[in-house]
Amino acid sequence: MAMEDEARPIIKELNLTPRGKLLSPLPMEFYEGKYKSLNLDLVTSGKCDKHNVDHIGPQAAILNTASAISQLQPDLIINPGTAGGFVSAGGNIGDVYLSYPMVCYHDRRIPLPGFDAYGIGSYYCFDTREIANSLGLKMGIVSTGSSLDYTPKDLDLIKSYGGVVKEMEAASIAWVADLYKIPFFAIKSITDLVDNSTPTEEEFLKNLESASIALSREVFRVIDFIAK
Ligand code: SAH
Repeated sequence: MAMEDEARPIIKELNLTPRGKLLSPLPMEFYEGKYKSLNLDLVTSGKCDKHNVDHIGPQAAILNTASAISQLQPDLIINPGTAGGFVSAGGNIGDVYLSYPMVCYHDRRIPLPGFDAYGIGSYYCFDTREIANSLGLKMGIVSTGSSLDYTPKDLDLIKSYGGVVKEMEAASIAWVADLYKIPFFAIKSITDLVDNSTPTEEEFLKNLESASIALSREVFRVIDFIAK
């Protein structure tokens, strides 16, 4: 996970124990616990000492995933987090989406043969249809970039592959998971709507707490479904 504020309700809901840094001197924070038959490990990307904020975004997500895989050898990787939704795709604040069928990048534009598709990534996810249908969750293509705001080109690209959820980590985690052939999916709670008139940052901060609570509730339901 990227942000401490997003992780806190999940750590509480799943009764996870803090274990300190995952792999010193890296900033990732490690929490662990058990639920029914499952061993649960949660790793946040930690804080940036220099700027005193969470390590959000695609770079920290790659370092987090690679370190967590080598330390913990997971059977399944789930990326819970907040995200922007789209009014044009029927999205509402507080909706929770499971990634399906893939996650893509919207700000790696490389107009060279072969590299254009490589930039977008299009990493296929674990098939979440049964979980989403059983739990009444939405599903869709999750789109990752380095920025909280967007350029018109970002939106064009998201539209071209039918992205309905915009955030800053999932495709990076999916890439590393794919290298190791570990199944992966994302669970994203909508804090803001990209295609309405309110500035993203304003909506994000207003809805972060309620969306994180909705996220922890649905993460728990998904874990419970998997544990059965
Ligand atoms: N200003 C905020 C930082 C939030 S950055 C703060 O100080 O707390 C956004 C984080 O939420 C990222 O981890 C990203 O994955 C997610 N996110 C939520 N809405 C988003 C959107 N519309 N676009 C991109 N990322 C979004």
